[in-house]
Order: sequence, then structure tokens, then C-alpha cells
Amino acid sequence: MKKITTNKPTLIPKVYCNLFGHDYQVTKKVTYHVKEYTCRHCRKELTTNSNGTLTELTPKFREINAILEKIHATRIERSKIKSDTSSIYHQVV
Ligand SMILES: [Zn+2]
Repeated sequence: MKKITTNKPTLIPKVYCNLFGHDYQVTKKVTYHVKEYTCRHCRKELTTNSNGTLTELTPKFREINAILEKIHATRIERSKIKSDTSSIYHQVV
């Protein structure tokens, strides 16, 4: 008796990624240089590390990014104030 298997092997996302590569999309902009990415197929998450290269988004990196995001927001606020006050100190030639 021959056993007929009708179950087609389902193309699991990981296999798809292995064949075609991950399809990362930016999910979060932490700073100008640091972003978080998620693969559309397997939901693998990446982030930019301090070297500017991509690395897996571990809970530790998530924590770092949260801090970076706060610092970045503060810097933007400060730079706004700074550009306002610097116009006062404009050099007279
Ligand atoms: Zn993937």
C-alpha cells in the first residue's frame, strides 16, 4: 500500500528569507543614524549599532535605543534654542 501525502510543504517565512533574503522595513527611527528594522516575512528585527552596522535587535539594544531616542529628542530641543541664541552673538565684521 502506497501512502499518499497530500500535505504540501508550507513555505515557512524563514525558508523564504533563506532563499530570497530578508525584506527589512524601517519600523522606527531612533536617531538620524539609528533605525530599527523588521523583516516583513519572518518578523526578525534589526537595529543599527554604535559601529553603524546592523545587528539583531535584542532586549538590550531595545533599551539602548529607548535611551538614544530620549537623548536625540532633547538634542533637537536644545539645538532649536541654541540656534536662536547664537543669532544674538552673530559676529560683526
Ligand atoms: Zn526574514
